[in-house]
Amino acid sequence: MHYYSLNNNAPNVSFSEAVIKGLAPDRGLYFPERITPLPNSFFEHIEDLDTIEIAYQAIRQFVGDEIPEPVLRDILADVLSFDFPVIQIDDTIGTLELFHGPTMAFKDVGARFMARCLEYFNRNNENHVTVLVATSGDTGGAVANGFLGVKGVDVVILYPTGKVSEIQEKQLTTLGKNITALEVDGVFDDCQEMVKTAFLDTSITDHKQLTSANSINVARWLPQLLYFLFAYKQVKNKGKDIVFSVPSGNFGNICAGIVAQKLGLPVKHFIAATNSNDTVVRYLETEKYDPKPSKATISNAMDVGNPSNFIRIQKLFNNNFKDLKSSFSAFSFNDDQTREAMKHVFSKTGYITDPHGAVGYLGLKKQALSSSEYGIFLETAHPVKFLDIVEETLDVSVEIPTQIQKVMDKEKKSIPIKTYSELKEFLLK
Ligand SMILES: *Cc1c(COP(=O)(O)O)cnc(C)c1O
Repeated sequence: MHYYSLNNNAPNVSFSEAVIKGLAPDRGLYFPERITPLPNSFFEHIEDLDTIEIAYQAIRQFVGDEIPEPVLRDILADVLSFDFPVIQIDDTIGTLELFHGPTMAFKDVGARFMARCLEYFNRNNENHVTVLVATSGDTGGAVANGFLGVKGVDVVILYPTGKVSEIQEKQLTTLGKNITALEVDGVFDDCQEMVKTAFLDTSITDHKQLTSANSINVARWLPQLLYFLFAYKQVKNKGKDIVFSVPSGNFGNICAGIVAQKLGLPVKHFIAATNSNDTVVRYLETEKYDPKPSKATISNAMDVGNPSNFIRIQKLFNNNFKDLKSSFSAFSFNDDQTREAMKHVFSKTGYITDPHGAVGYLGLKKQALSSSEYGIFLETAHPVKFLDIVEETLDVSVEIPTQIQKVMDKEKKSIPIKTYSELKEFLLK
């Protein structure tokens, strides 16, 4: 499988090159040359396949022959070693829980898959790769955990000071070893801008192989398509049309869902549910893409003003605005609405949503499902990751799982920085 740059001004690359480079030299996102649908029999008999078989069948075309089958199967078994249950909320709505991994947010799968791929590609050489990543919350923890101790890889995480939850901060600042956290005096966009600048700075890249672990990296992005297949396997026997509502920030997760649809997964409609960072919502209304600086909300992992994967979504619809609008909607909700939704779901059903899942739930409510449809919202983080907001909104106490408690007891280590030149100095030292 080859990947090309969506800016169309860089050479095509193999899967391994796309993973190692992250972003194409023309600053474009890599995109697969072809997406070949899976045979109908795959979907007809999906209930007979286990998680690893589903994953292998779906992902192998994107990897090609660069990772041999037994190795790829081992990687998938390692990466997908937890559950992805669909929990019934009411007759017409279920939630796909994606938080059963080690850092309790859905980014674990992508981060672990990317780490295992890089480890394999680095197996024979002594070269070091530096993974440089900006996080608005959950990416940092998932990447830190996924890459911890991976040979030949150093990880540098930039996060906005005071803008991530306490648990998120602990998850990315307490691991040590090959993981360093840089605490940036600014907002997420500042972190993201510094990272982008570093990738283009030849005075750094002449000395260091840098790569990204944001969802711009194909190995972070693509494995997320598996979630939608796992959900389908569980709800197929309802015989309804499936509508997915995906809490969206950088739009990597929902974009992977659309790739699953291209593989033949029967999906009636996709809803991108966002917080007040509503660039895509406005685009669908006006056909003008007008990114704004990100605003801080209680669903902070979605505080993204310029979602980097949206261009991939447009490509998946052949840049046809009408086609996009016919199977894709986007709705924005503010913090008050999010809190109300958390309360509503809890009082009606006893289910505790985190703020991101609650935004997803709101997306389904706004779309208004017909009786032939079944709505699934993605629960992208465990409520414990947003403990203060959940406890204060619902007046409950959430039990802290052991894997989180262990991290909370550790000591935070971070390096404060303010400017790009401080980042550069750090990378070159
Ligand atoms: C990252 C994240 C999102 C947004 O996912 P994108 O792929 O960036 O759209 C939503 N919820 C949580 C909890 C996240 O960590």
